[in-house]
Amino acid sequence: MSAVAERLLSVEEARAGVLGAIDHPVGVETIATADGLGRVLASPVVASVSLPPWDNSAVDGYAIVAADTEAATEDAPARLRLIGDVAAGAAPAVAITPGTAARIATGARVPPGADAVVPVEDTTPLDAAGQSGPRGRDATGPLPATCLVHRRVEPGLSIRRLGSDLVAGAALLEAGRTLHPAAIALAAGSGVPQLDVHRRPLVAVLATGDEVRAPGEELGPAGIPDANGPGLRALLEAAGCEPLDLGIARDDLDDVLARLRSALDRGADAIVVSGGVSVGPFDVVRTAIETVGRIDLWRVAVQPGKPFAFGTAARADGSPALIFGLPGNPVSSFVTFELFVRPALRRLGGRRDLLRSADRGVLLEPVSKSHGRRAYIRVVSERDDAGTPRRDEAGRVRVRLAGGQGSHVISALAVADALAIVPEADDSLPAGATVALWWLDPT
Ligand code: AMP
Ligand code: MG
Repeated sequence: MSAVAERLLSVEEARAGVLGAIDHPVGVETIATADGLGRVLASPVVASVSLPPWDNSAVDGYAIVAADTEAATEDAPARLRLIGDVAAGAAPAVAITPGTAARIATGARVPPGADAVVPVEDTTPLDAAGQSGPRGRDATGPLPATCLVHRRVEPGLSIRRLGSDLVAGAALLEAGRTLHPAAIALAAGSGVPQLDVHRRPLVAVLATGDEVRAPGEELGPAGIPDANGPGLRALLEAAGCEPLDLGIARDDLDDVLARLRSALDRGADAIVVSGGVSVGPFDVVRTAIETVGRIDLWRVAVQPGKPFAFGTAARADGSPALIFGLPGNPVSSFVTFELFVRPALRRLGGRRDLLRSADRGVLLEPVSKSHGRRAYIRVVSERDDAGTPRRDEAGRVRVRLAGGQGSHVISALAVADALAIVPEADDSLPAGATVALWWLDPT
């Protein structure tokens, strides 16, 4: 315990201490690109094909030699003989020469000799007898004998050039990027069937407390349902980790130790413990962490969440697992997860963007808090009918308290969409005060 400071650590000191314990992210696995949603790239993605892979048509129309239409107008159209069809997915079987054209579908390869595609809307089909059909045409009908082109067409019209979207070998996505749907489409669409991603960190969750009951269990005379086990496992999943449920330990050193050891034996990359980390007579978690490993830091000048503890312990292969001791009050547990655990697990998972997006808000109600600690109060932003946060003339998001600010008040936590930060030095803030905001987006 000698390494642990007597004074409370600042939020930044505590977070730096936690992040500093992570030497490198977890290992890498190869997955199908199609399974990549939410995963974190371990290697950059490089295009394996150019897009388009060849010149193709942007429209349904006729592939032509543009010069044939030089004098064409609505009333004096150019007349071109049709020599075939070019379908998407088939190599062109025809070559275009002056005076001829081929019917072509969107996405079909431009046939040799053609230097433009005239959209079908600008043409009229003629049958073998010279009878004209309707302006434009049914692309599924038989190939007309001839077509009229009612406009002058510049070379290149409606041709999507080879490589105009991206070129084979181009760097598309950086390592550390989290894959969203468009990134998956980009990788797959550029011919990359598999991706190297970090495996999901395996993170064990242990609730502690003689009073804490499993879901559905009788509460008896003095029990409360377990909020933290399920809540923390959900937070972990949302942070891209694989949760490992260690159940609920009694306020008993041996019980906590046995569960911590089982997590280390199973190779957990991190363990998140809730409760029992403070200075109560039955708080055994810090002793347990020191027994299996060591505590690097304890107690932060934050509200809620002051008793937060962090340490490490060796796994079977000697590599360290991170151990987080979160205060048991569900709001404290949630806030300290946000401030310290989530950024650490994101780094462990290979991400480079660690923190929530920040904003500026205006408090619509006064608040007060403990002296000398930085408060993260649970607030709700005013929203318009479209769900967009409302801002005042100064661009500040209008926020109200989400409810009671006690560290046990999960009803307020559940409706909050942001944390508003009240600095250490302020004991209270009036309505109208500017606050830094931390958005609590679902991911
Ligand atoms: P502790 O940090 O163990 O002193 O617990 C602080 C408060 O949080 C006490 O009121 C506990 O009953 C409550 N608490 C601890 N663990 C949980 C849990 N898993 N779910 C809900 N409340 C809890
Ligand atoms: Mg307890």
